[in-house]
Amino acid sequence: MSFPDLLELYPDLARGIRGKLTPNQPLSAVTWFRVGGPAQLLFQPADEDDLAAFLTKLPEDVPVLPVGLGSNLLIRDGGLEGVVIRLSAKGFGGIEEIGGNRLKAGAAVPDKRLAEVAAKAGLGGFAFYTGIPGGIGGALRMNAGAHGTETCQRMVELTAIDRKGQRHVLTNADMDYAYRHSGASKDLIFTSAVFEGIPMSEEEIRAEMAAVVEHRERAQPIREKTGGSTFKNPEGSSAWKEVDAAGCRGLTVGGAQMSEMHCNFMINTGTASGHDLELLGETVRKRVFETSGVRLEWEIKRLGRFGDEGPVEPFLGA
Ligand SMILES: Cc1cc2nc3c(=O)[nH]c(=O)nc-3n(C[C@H](O)[C@H](O)[C@H](O)COP(=O)(O)OP(=O)(O)OC[C@H]3O[C@@H](n4cnc5c(N)ncnc54)[C@H](O)[C@@H]3O)c2cc1C
Repeated sequence: MSFPDLLELYPDLARGIRGKLTPNQPLSAVTWFRVGGPAQLLFQPADEDDLAAFLTKLPEDVPVLPVGLGSNLLIRDGGLEGVVIRLSAKGFGGIEEIGGNRLKAGAAVPDKRLAEVAAKAGLGGFAFYTGIPGGIGGALRMNAGAHGTETCQRMVELTAIDRKGQRHVLTNADMDYAYRHSGASKDLIFTSAVFEGIPMSEEEIRAEMAAVVEHRERAQPIREKTGGSTFKNPEGSSAWKEVDAAGCRGLTVGGAQMSEMHCNFMINTGTASGHDLELLGETVRKRVFETSGVRLEWEIKRLGRFGDEGPVEPFLGA
């Protein structure tokens, strides 16, 4: 649906909602890279019922995209068509102990907060979240993981709202998890999830959390405008080793650079466009393939329309 058409619907869509609906909202403010054009409409629902009611009345041909804390997103300069849904901490930021070594967390809870609450509750197995700057919704979609643990090892079941506004409960098996991937329908917006931990002393958990923080500070450019690991680790190797071997550590395109500190992290040095970042990524993929024959796969999600600088051709069409 074209922008003017969607804007015409705005008064109708805004009527009766309890959350916030904003037209033409720049997304650079909500991504770690600090790049990206606007969303035609940005909706921040007040709670699950508000989200479901909004989706029920939104015409079916309008694309919908949920975003979390924007730590794995490269939004292109032309912005996103349709409605971007961002769950607010007010309606989706709750976290509670529910017994049986389990915690229930809203999708807007930052991963670090889940780790913190679990530590206080004496529940181990969540320390890896201390180093991941996303929220629970993004962790559920990406199967976020680090230091040998992944979201799929802790998640028991989750609640989601589909594109038509219907509520679903999905088990861990329904999520069809793989490395940094879930095969669950892209239609689903996760609203909360139940996680199960392993009883441990708070002292032991805190020591694990401290080790995670120490590792991040030493090895990753965590204070930069970045999206974390740019590429997934290929079978039998590490993405950073392939990037390094291809001579791409520190490589730049415009204001985008492969970090000197961790060469699988791409950074916006201050002036990068979405185009610079994507072109840098594709250049690295090409050089790695030419050097070692490895086809690196993007871990970062690239979304939206290209801007004035035109499209970036994907290397080998992938
Ligand atoms: C410094 C740094 C370090 C990082 N380290 C790691 C790491 O060690 N391990 C790791 O796995 N990742 C890491 N990442 C990447 C990122 O933090 C994770 O992928 C994280 O899980 C993304 O969560 P998010 O809330 O930021 O999601 P976003 O980046 O906003 O979105 C990511 C994807 O999730 C979807 N999504 C978001 N919310 C919802 C929802 N409620 N319902 C349905 N879909 C949703 C989006 O549509 C998108 O496809 C790192 C990133 C940075 C910047």
